[in-house]
Amino acid sequence: MKINSCLLTNDVETTSIWFNTLRDETGLKVLNEGMPALLDIYQKNNIKSTFFFTGYIAKLYPSVVKMILPYGHEVGSHALSHEVKDGFDVLSLDKQIIHLSESKKILENISGNEVISFRSPALRVNKYTPTALLETGFKIDSSIASTRFDAFLSFGSKEKLKWLFAPRTPYKTSIDSLFKKGGNGVIEVPLSATFFPYVGTTMRIFSGLTRAQHHLLHFETNRINHKPIVFDIHPNEFIDESMEPRIISKRAKNYPAYLLKDLIRSKLKVKNLGPGAISLYEREIQFFQKRGYEFCTIKEYCKKQKLV
Ligand SMILES: [Zn+2]
Repeated sequence: MKINSCLLTNDVETTSIWFNTLRDETGLKVLNEGMPALLDIYQKNNIKSTFFFTGYIAKLYPSVVKMILPYGHEVGSHALSHEVKDGFDVLSLDKQIIHLSESKKILENISGNEVISFRSPALRVNKYTPTALLETGFKIDSSIASTRFDAFLSFGSKEKLKWLFAPRTPYKTSIDSLFKKGGNGVIEVPLSATFFPYVGTTMRIFSGLTRAQHHLLHFETNRINHKPIVFDIHPNEFIDESMEPRIISKRAKNYPAYLLKDLIRSKLKVKNLGPGAISLYEREIQFFQKRGYEFCTIKEYCKKQKLV
């Protein structure tokens, strides 16, 4: 009997969901509150997972990386910076190489382990990304959310329309597109989606939808294609900043985009932040635990499947 896999992944960054901006103070809360909450959930449930760190937060608070090491979780890269201007869909090949190699160096120096897995900030990538990854020694990418439709609610959403046609099970990408199978790129381990993203944000805002999603995803894995479940959550979803008054920062260039990408999104995205997220996340974990899924890191999964 084939064993089904569940790959829990965590993007660690200084993004404040409450303030809709990057803040060093939020990074400190991630270190002191968000990360311990997540590590506790994983330890209680005997789970190994993958943490993608931005080089920025790792450099600012190296202990945010060090604290996962005793548990055997994987250290992956979430690029150097999470600034909108540094999205991998707008960076040149040379810039991507610099951002990747810098973040790899920072994370390897802190952890003492080789870093081979990558997730792009806000899942933004372009035609140069497979080459940049290979040039800098990355072997695995997890930035493609196959069959997910983001409408125009996220940055780089035009390029993300390609998600609708991306393969659902892990594949070797083409050298000029992470969205396509090729044979000369990196290994893509796509994030789970059912048209809607299967991520912490959906879980907190539309918990009923997520309940339907895990049944659908389990059916697909079990009956159709054996796809690993890949869930994406952030330690900044386990912190509560709501006691601090806020003005929602404007990141988009014009007013309609500000309304969609900043204002509406920020109002929605703050639901169930903090302790509320813990019980919801444990419910997702238990769903797959009860069904005999094996929880491991992305790197371990790829090794077991002989993909790397
Ligand atoms: Zn991120």
